[in-house]
Amino acid sequence: MIDTHCHIHDKQFDADRDEVVARAFEAGVSCMLTIGEDVADSRRAIEIAEPYEISVAVGIHPHEAKNALHDIAEELTPLLDAPGVIAIGETGLDYYYDHSPRDRQAAVLRAQIRLARDRSLPVVFHHRDAFEDFTAILREEWSRTMRGVVHCFTGTAPQARTFIDEFGLYLGIGGVLTFPNADGLRQAVVAAGAQKLVLETDCPYLAPVPVRGKRNEPSFVAHTAAKLSATLGMHLDELVGITDENARRLFEL
Ligand SMILES: [Zn+2]
Ligand SMILES: [Zn+2]
Repeated sequence: MIDTHCHIHDKQFDADRDEVVARAFEAGVSCMLTIGEDVADSRRAIEIAEPYEISVAVGIHPHEAKNALHDIAEELTPLLDAPGVIAIGETGLDYYYDHSPRDRQAAVLRAQIRLARDRSLPVVFHHRDAFEDFTAILREEWSRTMRGVVHCFTGTAPQARTFIDEFGLYLGIGGVLTFPNADGLRQAVVAAGAQKLVLETDCPYLAPVPVRGKRNEPSFVAHTAAKLSATLGMHLDELVGITDENARRLFEL
C-alpha cells in the first residue's frame, strides 16, 4: 500500500517516529509521501524524510496563504531540487475555515499550479467547500497533461466525476470513508470507480474507524483500504494493486 498523503514530519511524531515508520512497513505500507504546509514546514519535511527515504511534496496550504510572500515560485523553487521532493502541495482553497483571505488563497494556488506546470511536477490539492471557485481556477490554469490529486476527497458523485472526467485528477481517499455518516462519500467513490483513486491517511489527523479519535499514522491506511475494497465490492489485493499503480503513475514513483 502507498500512503499518498501523510505529515510524518509533524511534531506529533517526534517522540516515536522510528517506531511509527517501522509499523507502517510491517502493515504493508511500501511508500509514503509527506506533505509540506508552508515553506518552513516543507523544509522540515525534506530534512526529516531524507534518512527514511520518504518522498516529499513542498507547498503552501491555503491556511498559510496569508503569510506567503508574493513570489511563491522564488520561495519554493530552491526546495524542488532537494532529495526526495516529487510534488508540489498541498495547495488549494479552504472556505470551511477561511484562515486566509480568499483572494490570497486563489493567488497562491494559481502560482503553485504554474510552478508545477513549468517543472512538470504533480500537484497535491486541498479543497474544502470551494468547489465552484476551485474548478473555475482549474479551468484557467490546469491542463489535462498535468498530474494531480484532490486529497481527502469528501465530495459528491457529480464532483468526483468533474475532477476525473474534466481535469483527469485522482481522488485521495482517507479515513473519512470509514465514518458511519459518510454514506454520501461512499456513493461518490462507487461513482468514481477504482481507476482514479489513491489511498491516504492525512496523519496525524483523521484516523479511520476502528482507531478514530487516536493519533493517525501510516499503518492505519490498511483500515481505509479494507473499507474501500468492501465499498467497491473488490478483493483487497485487487484494490490495493490498482490504487498502488495509480499512485505510481500519479507521482512517477
Ligand atoms: Zn489537506
Ligand atoms: Zn494534509
